[in-house]
Amino acid sequence: MKTILTGLRVNSELTIGNYLGALLPMVRLANQHKDDYNINIFVPDLHSIISEVDGELKDNILKSIKIYFAAGLQPNENVHIYRQSYVPAHSELCWILSCIASMGELNRMTQYKEKSEGKSSVNAAIFNYPILMAADILLYDAEYVPVGEDQFQHIELTRNLAMRLNNKFGQEIFVPPVKTEEQIKFMGVENGIRIRDLSNPEKKMSKSTAGENSKVMMFDAPEAAAKKIMSATTDSVGKIQYDMFNQPGISNLLQIEALVNDVPLQDVISTWAGETHYGDLKRKVASSVQTMLEDFQNRVNDISDEKVLEYLETGEKYANGIANAKLLEVQHVFNLR
Ligand code: ATP
Ligand code: MG
Repeated sequence: MKTILTGLRVNSELTIGNYLGALLPMVRLANQHKDDYNINIFVPDLHSIISEVDGELKDNILKSIKIYFAAGLQPNENVHIYRQSYVPAHSELCWILSCIASMGELNRMTQYKEKSEGKSSVNAAIFNYPILMAADILLYDAEYVPVGEDQFQHIELTRNLAMRLNNKFGQEIFVPPVKTEEQIKFMGVENGIRIRDLSNPEKKMSKSTAGENSKVMMFDAPEAAAKKIMSATTDSVGKIQYDMFNQPGISNLLQIEALVNDVPLQDVISTWAGETHYGDLKRKVASSVQTMLEDFQNRVNDISDEKVLEYLETGEKYANGIANAKLLEVQHVFNLR
């Protein structure tokens, strides 16, 4: 059985853009394939400590798993949920892979360049973490790794490391993840969804944007979120129609309305065709978003820590079994065993 692997960064800061554009599609993909694929969902907690020591990390790890279930993830025996740091083979394989990776190829990683730019001192992990990411993937023969565009280069690096090691020892030890073009096709996101910033709809919504009214967070008070939608920037065209170029604000609201209610965008566009009162559209979208947040937050609160720890215990047992077997194969060819 093939494996789909995904990791959600531990972060309680989640915009409706992240949710509607990344998390929900991932959960739908998992639900759709869970009978014929292994679905590995791991919490990359070792990646979380790269930037800072977070006093809330342990709680946020549990919360990030609750978020998957609140988004509709249906557990079954093929869905494996685990914490990276509870599977020591990740760190071990990371070291071994760093012995075949070159400084030059890591130096070319755009993420590293961006994150280190202008800083007087950066830790070694910012440079090395793509190798840990390769280990996260290769331990499980994961062919499909749905990630955002910013991570495509790291998937290519993982492919290269896998093929290099296989060639070096003349054995098919690792299954390289499929090429990024195939990843995109598999995810079915050719026309990637981009929720826009509410105040500046020419830009995409981002959690790092400073403006409070620019973004709706999944843990915003639902009523406050509705107010943000009501204050969204629109235009003076006076027609409700989908035209991302000339009317990005209105188009964004139509897009949000469609995604929140899980109906085709075209249906929402037809419903509002000929209407001219922006206030009516805003009220409708505000109410949809408010209901979505209420439901989502209630579902997060309804899942107990105990239930999550139960899933983790089963998942980590599974993950250690698979990962240790793969690590042993690697240790053999390096004559460590
Ligand atoms: P940052 O401002 O820190 O870059 P972000 O909101 O862009 O935060 P990321 O952590 O970069 O979020 O991305 C998390 C996931 O959410 C990625 O898969 C990314 O493609 C997706 N995503 C980010 N912003 C949007 C958006 N506005 N609409 C749809 N998907 C988005
Ligand atoms: Mg981003």
